[in-house]
Amino acid sequence: VLTCTIVKINNEVLITVLTDISCQVATERRLRQTDSWLDAIYTIVNDFAVLGLTKQGVINSWSPSAERLTGYTESEAIGETLRRFCNLPDVDVDVFDEHLTFAREEGWHSRDYLCQHKSGHTFFAQTMIAVLREEDDEFSGYTVVCRDITERKVSSDNLANLLTKDHLTGAVNRAHFFNLAEKEFARANRYGQSISIIMLDADHFKQVNDSWGHPMGDEVLKSIVKIAEGVLRPGDTIARFGGEEFAVMLPKSNGLEASVVAERLRSSIEASSVSSAGGEIKITVSIGCASMSESRSTLKQLLVCADAALYHAKSKGRNCIVDIDDF
Ligand code: GH3
Ligand code: MG
Ligand code: MG
Repeated sequence: VLTCTIVKINNEVLITVLTDISCQVATERRLRQTDSWLDAIYTIVNDFAVLGLTKQGVINSWSPSAERLTGYTESEAIGETLRRFCNLPDVDVDVFDEHLTFAREEGWHSRDYLCQHKSGHTFFAQTMIAVLREEDDEFSGYTVVCRDITERKVSSDNLANLLTKDHLTGAVNRAHFFNLAEKEFARANRYGQSISIIMLDADHFKQVNDSWGHPMGDEVLKSIVKIAEGVLRPGDTIARFGGEEFAVMLPKSNGLEASVVAERLRSSIEASSVSSAGGEIKITVSIGCASMSESRSTLKQLLVCADAALYHAKSKGRNCIVDIDDF
């Protein structure tokens, strides 16, 4: 692209200056495009929000799309931090400060937060924080781009649940238990840690179904898992192995610790009941325990031994615990 400038010097002389302005035209076109992109992001795109933060992480610019995503107006948001909109987990480190630190170190960093809209409903926001720099490369704050990913998150969580959980009780399913256990056993062997397996089977469960009906039997199974989840530690896993049979994995637990957990499971289940129209349904469980030792180090060995101990508990009269090393 050329521009032509003609200057009249006198009646006989004209000077013509041709200037190549291709670069300038391209730059202007790019700027116009960037402007319209920004405009689109700021106002048109529904599930993106763009906002700015100061060096200290305080909100200093707020777009119409941010208002749409959060429900808060510019005047309500300016001067706040992102904490105001996120239900941050109650952990030792300040998750938000950590996010800013990572962004500063890496240039940008993205995390998903559970956020609360002004109207009360919650949503998941994928939140990308990028470092903002002046022309002289001086760090001047942050740009934040947020996106509502609730639908994607919920459907991927649903899919994960379908693949890993028992649909009735919510306990881990058998296939996933083996995945988790393989990893835990590898870890236990690598670090020389103990690990225990408990097999648990509801006593005379057929009678529960026969007396109270199959749907109430289902409720009893759900209550067993609920009670177990209250007794177990966060790193422990309960899996539904078959109809009324469950396996429990206790990482970093030796035989003594496992028998304490087993007794808590047994007594809590014995003490509980499930309410039905016809009255309270009581259930007991029999439990077999096996822990890692010199002669037992694989998952398969522990499962076989815990199962044998469970069989022994049944033959001893049920509602009791047997450790494989005790007989
Ligand atoms: P034991 O004390 O020897 O374990 O006796 P039991 O009656 O518990 O054992 P048995 O194996 O004879 O019967 C298990 C029953 O569990 C039979 C089956 O109908 C029932 N069952 C299996 N899966 C489910 C389920 O998902 N829901 C319900 N309600 N019942 C189930
Ligand atoms: Mg049974
Ligand atoms: Mg059984």
